[in-house]
Amino acid sequence: MRSAPEFVFESLPGRVVFGPGHRSVLARELEVIGASSVLVVGGGHDRAVGDGLVRILGPRPFRHIVEVHQHVPRADVEAALTQVDEGNIDTVVAVGGGSAIGLGKAVALHRRVRLVVIPTTYAGSEMTPVWGVSDDSGKHTGRDLRVLPTLVIYDPELTLGLPLEVTTASAFNALAHCVESFWVPERNPVTTSMAADAIAVIIEALGPVMVDPEDITARGWLLFGAYRAGVVLASTGTALHHRASHVLGGRFGLDHAGMNSALLAHVVAYNSGWGSWDAAELDDAVGHQPADRLFDLAVAVGAPTSLAQLGMPEDGIEMVIAEIVEEVGDSNPRMPDPASLSAMLHRAWRGNAPLSDL
Ligand code: NAD
Repeated sequence: MRSAPEFVFESLPGRVVFGPGHRSVLARELEVIGASSVLVVGGGHDRAVGDGLVRILGPRPFRHIVEVHQHVPRADVEAALTQVDEGNIDTVVAVGGGSAIGLGKAVALHRRVRLVVIPTTYAGSEMTPVWGVSDDSGKHTGRDLRVLPTLVIYDPELTLGLPLEVTTASAFNALAHCVESFWVPERNPVTTSMAADAIAVIIEALGPVMVDPEDITARGWLLFGAYRAGVVLASTGTALHHRASHVLGGRFGLDHAGMNSALLAHVVAYNSGWGSWDAAELDDAVGHQPADRLFDLAVAVGAPTSLAQLGMPEDGIEMVIAEIVEEVGDSNPRMPDPASLSAMLHRAWRGNAPLSDL
């Protein structure tokens, strides 16, 4: 028998309501938390979603920021804070992907408001106390319990219209939360088993969603996997994969979800055989030779497999190597050295298959 577990696991507060059509509980839930004046953030991806939520709010005074941008530009945060102050807002309802949620979190960081989140992608930000804001000097992130939503409502019906190219890339974002949890210093048996379950659910649900994007059952499981992946991320931490993604996204404005599918397999190969993490656990969860499996999966579902495809200039790689090394610090099982990191990023830029011998 293997040695008995010994670990630290931190469970974070927050209420979760999950199920098709469950966005209708919003009005009652807002009553329960005593919301009197609401700022709705997001919903611009589908006017009907934004308008539908506004109807659910009933006669309560509200303001609505429809347009949000990736990586939470500081100017957007300042505009939202002005709305909060002018409208005496006590509750923010963020609906959409990580961009809308990120703006809601940035507001919660600076004002005493309750945050309710209705996620419509698989980014998982709603489960984490991590915020991020970008400006001319790049993307700044931090961890603060004030940005954790009071309530998260997962309604798979709101994901039926998510375009396939966003669906697959975003599913890789969720897979990346799980995969990286196997090797970060904060890994523990609670999150490892949750991550393995989530990986299985996500991979299984992706097939039927590719065939029929409006398959509500498969969409429900995919969203459930993404929720669990978000819990895993929140309760562990990040290393080379996420930190490189943040540096590249902040510097070149690359699509966050797409970076996950373009980089994940390469980072798995890069870390394989290094450090004290148990690679067999990842083999069990993803399949034998997980780097190849993940690369093949990205190709099969048509998710981005190259940084070039996302619009990154190849000569940008050398500009960010030092920053990535610094950001990674000692979080990764393999200390990234500039030469091997550069080789890995060039392969990811070209869309080559992953290579462990770098
Ligand atoms: P996103 O929120 O920008 O959404 C991607 C696109 O999908 C957008 O065009 C959006 O309008 C559209 N969209 C969203 N839901 C839709 C739906 N149901 N139907 C049709 N279109 C829809 O991107 P994302 O990948 O969800 O989030 C990325 C952002 O989240 C990044 O800034 C990333 O850093 C952040 N993030 C943060 C954390 C954290 O813990 N803080 C975790 C993961 C991601």
